[in-house]
Amino acid sequence: MERVIIIGSGPAGLTAAVYAARANLSPLVLAGGMYGGQLMLTTEVENYPGFPDGIMGPDLMIKFREQAEHFGARIENVDVTDVDFGGQPLIVRTAEQEYHAETVIIATGASARWLDIPGEELLRGRGVSTCATCDGAFFRDKRIVVVGGGDSAMEEALFLTRFGSKVTVIHRRDSLRASKIMAERALSHEKIDFIWNTGVEAVLGTTQMTGLRLKNLVDGTISEFDADALFIAIGHIPNTAIFAGQIDLDAAGYILSPNGTNTNVEGVFVGGDVNDLRYKQAITAAGSGCKAAMDAEKYLEAHEFAMRETVL
Ligand code: NAP
Repeated sequence: MERVIIIGSGPAGLTAAVYAARANLSPLVLAGGMYGGQLMLTTEVENYPGFPDGIMGPDLMIKFREQAEHFGARIENVDVTDVDFGGQPLIVRTAEQEYHAETVIIATGASARWLDIPGEELLRGRGVSTCATCDGAFFRDKRIVVVGGGDSAMEEALFLTRFGSKVTVIHRRDSLRASKIMAERALSHEKIDFIWNTGVEAVLGTTQMTGLRLKNLVDGTISEFDADALFIAIGHIPNTAIFAGQIDLDAAGYILSPNGTNTNVEGVFVGGDVNDLRYKQAITAAGSGCKAAMDAEKYLEAHEFAMRETVL
């Protein structure tokens, strides 16, 4: 029986691991086959406090992992396939094994939606990004494109006006999905212009992005558009498929936690992007992972105290 199983190994999961390990709970982290979360896909991280000269995303996650292991967290690079939260013990399964735990911390994160077009993967970190807060500052006085028509796209576009010489929003329809206030801000901004009814067909460039191939979705015209950066803001997908039917999710699939890091299942806590529609930053994920571990520790303490009282 494990006292704490942590599912996920991004900033939330590994911070939870540091805290749970330092609380002597010997946490088991089921890190996923590709551990480290979204930061493993980024280049330079300049907004994580403590690194004034910046740090590469994968290097930061190696440091998180080393710190958790240093305090005794056990980390297995395996994917969880399903869970059974029907009662105690909580059951977590991988393809190979079944684990039993008193508490589980879910920190499986969210994945940015990608366009799945030619050039996108090759030029990731070389002009193509899904995070303006992370990468916007690399494109001072450059021509920036944002794709998407929701609040995220408007927010990214507005933020990127601080850096880009011009920001062009490319949207597949002729009206925005974004809330009125965000849409109006973007539509009236002097540095932002819009290309409507248009899809991005390919990212152009070999070592650095140089432009985009566009398709007008009304008349089918293909054109090329010179640009230095493409920020894709077409939504995120919370990684909660394995929890469907086991835990309360909102309509978009994020885990509900109306009271701190507690979920609707006793002993199951949550941290990081998997229940954060709003901030989605490494530092906020780390903070909520810390909270989840502290809540799990308190829960175990109260639970074990109650059991001792019953025995006495
Ligand atoms: P979203 O509301 O789902 O919008 C996604 C946008 O991307 C839509 O305009 C959609 O086009 C477009 N899109 C989706 N797939 C695409 C594809 N394959 N190719 C091209 N375009 C594609 O997602 P979001 O903007 O990330 O927002 C998610 C939630 O967070 C929303 O509830 C939003 O209000 C909230 N949010 C709020 C704030 C804020 O209030 N400050 C900031 C960010 C997010 P269509 O319109 O044609 O479907």
